Amino acid sequence: MMRFWQIRKPDYTSDYQDSYINGAIEHLLEFPKIDCDVCFRAWGWTGTRSVTFECPESLREEIARLSKKSLSRTDHLTLKTRLLSAVGLESLPFIDIGPQYSFPPGFLDVPSRPKADFLWPWPTILVSQRVRDSLADVCGDNVAACRVTMRKIGKRSAKLPAPIPLSGEPEDIIYEGPLLGSTSEVGPYYEIVPRYASSDPPERIIESSCSACGWVKTKADFSVRRGPLRLAPGSRNGRSIFYLGSTLHVIVTDDVRKALQMLRPSNLQLEEVWCPPA
Ligand SMILES: [Zn+2]
Repeated sequence: MMRFWQIRKPDYTSDYQDSYINGAIEHLLEFPKIDCDVCFRAWGWTGTRSVTFECPESLREEIARLSKKSLSRTDHLTLKTRLLSAVGLESLPFIDIGPQYSFPPGFLDVPSRPKADFLWPWPTILVSQRVRDSLADVCGDNVAACRVTMRKIGKRSAKLPAPIPLSGEPEDIIYEGPLLGSTSEVGPYYEIVPRYASSDPPERIIESSCSACGWVKTKADFSVRRGPLRLAPGSRNGRSIFYLGSTLHVIVTDDVRKALQMLRPSNLQLEEVWCPPA
C-alpha cells in the first residue's frame, strides 16, 4: 500500500509568529493574463504558482511590459511557445504555465534571521541547501529549485516570540525590528516548484469552466476544508513530488518523507494524505 504525505507549515500560535518566521516573498515578473474570446473573461491567478525557471534575458523586457496586462488567446499561446523555445523546451513536460504565473527569483523579506530548513512565505515553499540537495537526490527532475534573493532580513533570532507590530498588521512586522546591513551570510534558500500535478481531488466540483482558455470555477474550498487531504482514485502519477490537482498543496511519496525525516528538518509538518486502495 503506497502512502503519501502533504508537506506543510506547522500550526503557529498566531499570524504574527507565522510572519515573523516565514516573512513574505515577492516575484517581480509574471506571465500575462489571458483575454478569452470564447468566454469573454480576462483572468489570471495572481500570486499562486511559479514557473519552474527564470525568465530568459531575451524575453524579460517584453514580459515585464506585459505583466498585469492581458493577451488574446492566440498571443498568449504564441508567447508561451516563444518562452519555451527560448529556454530550450519544445513542449510542456510539466504542468502548464498559466496566466499570471510568477517567475523566479523570488525576493524574500523576513523580520527574523531565518535558520529553519523550511520557510513558508505564501504561496511558496522555500528550503535550505541540504533539503534542496536531498530533494534533488530523491525526486530528480520532478521538482525545480530556484535560488531566492534575500532582500530585507531581520537581525533577531526566529526563536524569540514575535513582536506585535504597532499597526496591528502581521505583514508590517518587517518594519518593526532591526534589519541586517548585509544578507550575504543568510541562507541560501531555494524555492521548490513541483513540475507535475495529480488529478484533482474528489471533492473538487467544477461549477463552470471554459475549455478554450482553461478557466474554471470550483465549489470546494481547500483552504478551509478540515481533515486530511485526499487523492482521487487513479491519480497516483508515478511522481515522487507533485501538486494536488490544481491546488497549491504539495504531496510527496513515502520515500521522500523518509529522506526528509532523516534530516530532522525544522519548520516542517508532514501530514498523511488519504489515498484510496488501488
Ligand atoms: Zn475562456
